[in-house]
Amino acid sequence: MRLDKFLANAGLGSRKEVKKVLKDGVVVVNNQLTKDGKIHINPKSDEITVRGEKIIYREFIYLMMNKPPGVISATEDVNEETVVDLLKIEDAIMEPFPVGRLDKDTEGLLLLTNDGKLAHRLLSPKNHVPKTYFAVIQGEVTEKDVEAFRNGVILEDGYHTKPGILKILKSGLRSDIELTITEGKFHQVKRMFEAVDKKVTYLKRIEMGPLQLDESLELGDYRELSNEEVQLLT
Ligand code: URA
Repeated sequence: MRLDKFLANAGLGSRKEVKKVLKDGVVVVNNQLTKDGKIHINPKSDEITVRGEKIIYREFIYLMMNKPPGVISATEDVNEETVVDLLKIEDAIMEPFPVGRLDKDTEGLLLLTNDGKLAHRLLSPKNHVPKTYFAVIQGEVTEKDVEAFRNGVILEDGYHTKPGILKILKSGLRSDIELTITEGKFHQVKRMFEAVDKKVTYLKRIEMGPLQLDESLELGDYRELSNEEVQLLT
């Protein structure tokens, strides 16, 4: 790995800031001062210090974002703003990608990581990782819908969904609900409600596996997962 990339990954700042640190002559690789960010180093075996402090290599990054509406769950796009565009440079440089997708208008819990194995485990249909959504529904959600979701509903393309646990929080002309599903089909929550002739007007993911959305995160904000949260996922 290039030294400048390693230093940026370690949280030293943007490439520009890293360049300045190197120019200042405070970076030492295996007891040798270097100002060249292009040299290749082995992050696991080389000892790198900045102003005398040893830099600890972080291989993986795990971020929890409160996804805002209006951005897409992708790493890059020519026309649209993506969730990765919302990251600070020192985090984006580690090349995290969103674990699964939320629709452009959906808000809430989105995990971003560069740990491909973990992402695969969370997304594999075999693992039935539960995802819980809060939604506002146009129309009255009833016990009949709870029962229908418990049995799985038939989507417009004929697919019979796995059971979903539907909780009615408030029922009326506008209903508030929570729905837990273990699949991740395209527009699944919206299509499950369409299957019972209702429309989702607001959708927010609040849980994924053992992770809960940190409600102190404003829309568009994110934070690193704690070690305990990472342990829960692995
Ligand atoms: N189901 C949907 O319909 N949309 C999402 O973004 C997530 C689940």
